[in-house]
Amino acid sequence: MPKSSTYRMRVKENVRMTDPTCDDIVVRLTLTPVRNEAVRPFKAGQYVRIGVPGVDQPAPGYFAIASEPHEPSSYDFFVKCAGPLSRYLCDLQPGSELEVDGPMGKAFDLEPYRGYDVYLIGVGTGIAPLRSVWHHLIRHRQDYGKVAIYAGFLTPLHRLLTDELETLSEHHIDVHVTVESGQDSWDGPIGYVQHALAADQPDGSHAVACLAGMSAMVDACTQTLQNLGFDDSRILLNY
Ligand SMILES: Cc1cc2nc3c(=O)[nH]c(=O)nc-3n(C[C@H](O)[C@H](O)[C@H](O)COP(=O)(O)OP(=O)(O)OC[C@H]3O[C@@H](n4cnc5c(N)ncnc54)[C@H](O)[C@@H]3O)c2cc1C
Repeated sequence: MPKSSTYRMRVKENVRMTDPTCDDIVVRLTLTPVRNEAVRPFKAGQYVRIGVPGVDQPAPGYFAIASEPHEPSSYDFFVKCAGPLSRYLCDLQPGSELEVDGPMGKAFDLEPYRGYDVYLIGVGTGIAPLRSVWHHLIRHRQDYGKVAIYAGFLTPLHRLLTDELETLSEHHIDVHVTVESGQDSWDGPIGYVQHALAADQPDGSHAVACLAGMSAMVDACTQTLQNLGFDDSRILLNY
């Protein structure tokens, strides 16, 4: 393990995740260490700071680790093409090098909540740290009660990980996908994740929730969860 907190990683894969006809681009970047060092272990929900080697601009930014925390051999990230850094990252070819600082952040620590129901609630690229959590939960599925994911996207074309989410019922994980605005082919729910939660009325008295998304979404979901009986101490953020 290098002493410095920064280390070099190389792009192994860059795969588009949003529908090819979608105006917004989200890619999955998979990074592996350049030298033969081990990938640093991390906890589900942690993030890293990614920078471009040798330059100040585009400035480094933070990205949640989206991959399996158990014995990692690489890190996955979901990057939304939004500004200078993210555009640079979305265009990277395999073999390109990046500077990675971390892992950092308090993670989603579910250890104290063994035996509880778990609700993972995220929108857009907020689903990235939650993916790491559900991979952890699959390994420890018997330690938790009901597990449900509420994922929100702008439109059906913006959905991420549709195939993977469909397989989660094999692990007794319920998945609820909502979109802000639908299309003719969409027959699922339309609205925000907090509306889907409020409609389902989960019992929050013995449950913990992990939230990941922009602050307006976090505030609205927190309010809904409080109304459902979730204690503030059981509404978790990863930063
Ligand atoms: C703890 C933490 C974790 C993060 N994890 C991720 C992640 O997993 N994936 C990711 O794509 N970004 C993530 N971000 C945001 C990321 O760090 C950058 O802000 C983002 O890539 C934009 O940087 P930029 O320099 O390209 O553009 P900027 O000029 O900084 O931003 C351009 C515009 O895009 C908006 N924006 C930035 N990111 C998003 C987003 N994901 N969805 C919607 N609007 C956005 C900004 O508010 C701004 O208006 C995270 C931020 C933090 C603090």
